[in-house]
Amino acid sequence: MKLKRYPQITFFLAMSLIQFCIAVGNPNRETFRPPEQKRIRDWQTVIQKNQSITDLTIFHTGAVEVPLSGMINLDDPKLKGEKDKRIFVDVYSFWFCHKTHGCFLIDSGLDSSFQKGGNLKGLISGYYISNTKQNPGQDITSHLNRKGKPIQAVFFTHLHGDHTAGVSGLPKEIEFYAGAKEEYINYWPIYYGGHLDTVKHLKEIDCSQGMEMPILGIVIDVFGDGSLFAIPTPGHSNSHLSYLVVSDAGTYLFTGDASHTYRGFQLGVESGWQDNRKQAKESLEKLRNFAAANPQIKVIPGHELPPGVSVGEQKFSAKR
Ligand SMILES: [Zn+2]
Repeated sequence: MKLKRYPQITFFLAMSLIQFCIAVGNPNRETFRPPEQKRIRDWQTVIQKNQSITDLTIFHTGAVEVPLSGMINLDDPKLKGEKDKRIFVDVYSFWFCHKTHGCFLIDSGLDSSFQKGGNLKGLISGYYISNTKQNPGQDITSHLNRKGKPIQAVFFTHLHGDHTAGVSGLPKEIEFYAGAKEEYINYWPIYYGGHLDTVKHLKEIDCSQGMEMPILGIVIDVFGDGSLFAIPTPGHSNSHLSYLVVSDAGTYLFTGDASHTYRGFQLGVESGWQDNRKQAKESLEKLRNFAAANPQIKVIPGHELPPGVSVGEQKFSAKR
């Protein structure tokens, strides 16, 4: 199919088409009021001292088939000559428990519909996700059942279908968080899944209420105790968030789709699919500078685990 050869044009056309389609199922929004942001300090102090978060676990919830050109910008000179192709990428959800606030997810992973085709519909949905793979027991509900503990909330990196597709498999009474004014991509009839139909209120994390930190700039200390930070990384989506989790198993930077792949993070090549490429490059550079200055942090891109990091519960290791 010809469109596959022109991913940028296709993406632009799709985004233009979206303007004429009907946005549906957008939940009510309310602003999250973060606790008092303590005066900080440098990142080293933050990373070394906190033990509030335990049981950090990476859930692998299935895989989706997408164009490589969406995952990494093949027009970047560093990838000269590399051809586009369809590849399967993993879809994760990240679980952690806070000693006083309970257990949480970063992104919702995939529900059990991804054993057979998934829950994204519409005229152009097949361009983004053309196939799915999921074994029985990999869906988000099965992961939560195995944990056997209630969850309090989901912190979304952004509101694209592969990150919201698990909501239907989650308890209904929990809370949901996303960046302030983050666009919910749910446009009938071209690309929709109704993933947030049951979400009554979406709490918006407004990073202007945060604090200034070295390298990353303004961040939000979500619990006010230096254990979870929301980091604005716009570009792939308008109000994309990455998260830093300071756990007893070490400190993890969950980039979300500020970098889909570990390869892209290493090379400094942003993802192909962008809402704003200039912002995306700046966001990626910010995260790369932060990781370089704090080498003990494990960087977990949106759809690819780095060498040395496996799915499942994370254990402390002195090694990088
Ligand atoms: Zn994604």
